[in-house]
Amino acid sequence: MNETRQVYLDNNATTRLRPEALEAMMPHMTDQFGNPSSVHHLGRAVRAKISSARDIIAHAIGADPSEIFFTSGGTESNNLAIKGHAWADRKASGSHIITSSIEHPAVLEVCKYLSKNGYELTQVPVDADAIVDPEAVREAIKSNTTLVTIMHANNEVGTIQPVAEITKIAKESGITVHTDAVQTFMKTPVNVDELGIDLLSISAHKVNGPKGVGALYVRSGTKMHPLGHGGHQERGIRAGTENVAGIIGFAKSVEVGLAEMEKDRAHTKKLRDELERRILAEIPHTKLNGHPEKRLPGTVNISFKCIEGEALLINMDMSGMAISTGSACSSGSLDPSHVLMAMDIPHEIIHGSLRFSFGHENTMDDVDYVMSRLPKIITNLRNISPLWDPKELRVVSLEEAQSNAKVGH
Ligand code: PLP
Repeated sequence: MNETRQVYLDNNATTRLRPEALEAMMPHMTDQFGNPSSVHHLGRAVRAKISSARDIIAHAIGADPSEIFFTSGGTESNNLAIKGHAWADRKASGSHIITSSIEHPAVLEVCKYLSKNGYELTQVPVDADAIVDPEAVREAIKSNTTLVTIMHANNEVGTIQPVAEITKIAKESGITVHTDAVQTFMKTPVNVDELGIDLLSISAHKVNGPKGVGALYVRSGTKMHPLGHGGHQERGIRAGTENVAGIIGFAKSVEVGLAEMEKDRAHTKKLRDELERRILAEIPHTKLNGHPEKRLPGTVNISFKCIEGEALLINMDMSGMAISTGSACSSGSLDPSHVLMAMDIPHEIIHGSLRFSFGHENTMDDVDYVMSRLPKIITNLRNISPLWDPKELRVVSLEEAQSNAKVGH
């Protein structure tokens, strides 16, 4: 495998639009341009399509169509769920919200914002595999707790949380529960009744749909305030003319993807397992991050000792491979990943972490290609690391590295 090829292994970041979804969207960017709120025939035609799209999304998660609210994506769904419920259910004295330490920023930052504006916040920790202990949630519950928000699966390490158990505990105290299911939707079965959940966020571009559209499931009877005020769209919960083409493309991607889900799960798991097995066997001083089994089928996060993740990512990129680091480099910061830190992984290992995330379009050739380049890139980077002994192929301590530097090694 000498030729450079393009390998996309960043499907947790975003996915390619399904051709069927694009085809379904096109007429709504040309002739079928009606506003779904219009009374005339152009509006009515589009309104009927949105209604069918709502049915498809509702069916995919076992909900009633009246419980689906279209949004601009996972971030807005999370904001609407958390702020919308917190504002609607504000108890007399500073209401309390429970979340975890490994949430996506689209939950963490919302919770932090509320905590600076009169709400009380508890972040429950995770164990070394990034799993929340439901008993920790039970202990965190107070008489003024208004919401528990715990993600279904983590985007960096793929660990799946015991959401159904957490919900059961919260329900004993009558507390509303939200889950960010952006990473699990269409990768694992997601059923709102099996999870017992009140609020659930999903996003189209993670499931081979278009960017800028998503949905929030709101169980009937859940207290909600809108974030924005304006027209009566989405039954007053989400004002603004609907992203018609986006919603229709989202529904098509779900319709096609749902029929393929079991096959795609098996396929991505097979590729993921093979890459994981080969990296851990062929490259020394590596460590798997996240739960070995309770994990999204296509996600693997690995730490490479004595490696700077960003340098690794750039070298992989130059060889045609699109992968993410575990750190928050996408936001322009080199801060270590808050997820890996919450898992108590040492700093120097966190910095050398990569997340590979597979989608249905990947093949075993992609795995072979990664393994034809990655070991060599790792060797080259380690050879220029002061913390690596290239003769003995071992990690040296910081003290040893400092004394080597002094004697001019
Ligand atoms: N939640 C999780 C777990 C995610 O992985 C993402 C995207 O990275 C989001 C929320 C945000 O979704 P969107 O990009 O649709 O706003």
